[in-house]
Amino acid sequence: MKMNIAEIAKAVDAQNDIEQWSDIEVSGVAFDSRHLKTGDLFVPLMGARDGHEFVNTAFQNGASASLWAADHHYDDDGQPRIVVEDPLKALQQLGKYYLNKINPVVVAVSGSNGKTTTKDMIASILSTQMNVTKTHANFNNAIGVPVTLLNMEANTEAVVVEMGMSHFGELDELSKLVTPDIAVLTMIGEAHIEFFGTRDRIADAKMEITHGMREDGTFVYNGDEPLLRERAKDLKQITKTFGRQLSNDIYATSVEQSDHDITFTVNLWPDEEFRIPMVGEYNVNNAMAAMMVARRLHVTPNHIKIGLENLELTENRTEWLAGNQGEKILSDVYNSNPTAVKEVLETLNELPEKGRRIIVLGDMLELGDASAKLHAGLAKSIDHEHFAKVFLVGSEMKALATALLADGYPADDLQHFAADEQSELVASLRSTIQKGDIVLLKGSHGIHLENVLQELTTK
Ligand code: ATP
Ligand code: MG
Repeated sequence: MKMNIAEIAKAVDAQNDIEQWSDIEVSGVAFDSRHLKTGDLFVPLMGARDGHEFVNTAFQNGASASLWAADHHYDDDGQPRIVVEDPLKALQQLGKYYLNKINPVVVAVSGSNGKTTTKDMIASILSTQMNVTKTHANFNNAIGVPVTLLNMEANTEAVVVEMGMSHFGELDELSKLVTPDIAVLTMIGEAHIEFFGTRDRIADAKMEITHGMREDGTFVYNGDEPLLRERAKDLKQITKTFGRQLSNDIYATSVEQSDHDITFTVNLWPDEEFRIPMVGEYNVNNAMAAMMVARRLHVTPNHIKIGLENLELTENRTEWLAGNQGEKILSDVYNSNPTAVKEVLETLNELPEKGRRIIVLGDMLELGDASAKLHAGLAKSIDHEHFAKVFLVGSEMKALATALLADGYPADDLQHFAADEQSELVASLRSTIQKGDIVLLKGSHGIHLENVLQELTTK
């Protein structure tokens, strides 16, 4: 971005006289003084510590100005401060102001899983024909979204914004902030069920993504989810669905997986073959969501193909690695939830490779009251015929161990470890794994299976 202090002060309703600094140029925003670039506007936010404590450091690191909350005292040191009621609100106001100024097409993406992947796919496809800005990493909340907006280059033609939420009202606010031309919901899972209680309520909260949608906008959603179909009926905007069922506007007509990519065809362009450089069949849904967005924006099928094939993922969290005992490891040690685990187990089943399947599952965190039930529920997806050995890690996974044993999974092939017994786990894995085995490592980041992965992949 490029704005001077006078323009910023006006956009955020500054309460002080900034006349003397009017012409100072600001080239970006930062809320962490350590990651600040010269010329940035510093935004002091309330976190574990009060961001105002870091304003001096921000100036030392090259900030051209700082926002400042009116209820905080300061000694006038001549540094350009823009005094506002609430710096976070001001950040959002400024993001909205800048968005209106640049006026790109806005695509908002939410859903329980697949937000970042779908965001990256949309951005990759649109980039073949337009100047695109997308959410950096996982900056998907009330702070990350305005920061994404303010990072747009002046020539941005489309901005793809990921939106996360864990409570009612969050998507409402984010949607009204960005006023999407296209709003996308990837799926409804069980994430944050701790707070919401039921999937119905999660669906209600997710639908808030449409609250700020423009009247001529389009809502693109997973049509295999009845909870969304019901709710989408009430919208006056155009709605388009994707999914596996034939009733969707876009659905896959064939899907072929290898250990490193997926090739598929869809009803809309029967003669084209599409490819995504990633595993996990659920990614076909993410891709179809992105394809539908692209189609609304008149991207040609050929460009869609190029965009998908050249996908650069923010964090390619599900990846194949070579283990040091000749095994192949499928790893996602950053994220886990019931839907994702079921999907990846299915993927493992469908792979052409012959090797034994060994699965290492860490706790799925943040599932609240439903946690034991959801962990135990995975037993239905795990049978001895397909999964030769099961290693479970963390206290929540005890419920799955019990359920598996109750279902007749042999005790000899099942082991449970506490989260802090990683060296025992690694030793046991080492003595179990043989050349040609396919090993799955998946768990919430809090269980730190990345240490286990490290042990299995470095000699
Ligand atoms: P976060 O809430 O952490 O931002 P996210 O919604 O951005 O997550 P991604 O980062 O795209 O999701 O994917 C995280 C994991 O979710 C993947 O590694 C995969 O296991 C699972 N996943 C992705 N897409 C889907 C989908 N469409 N359906 C089910 N599971 C999915
Ligand atoms: Mg994400």
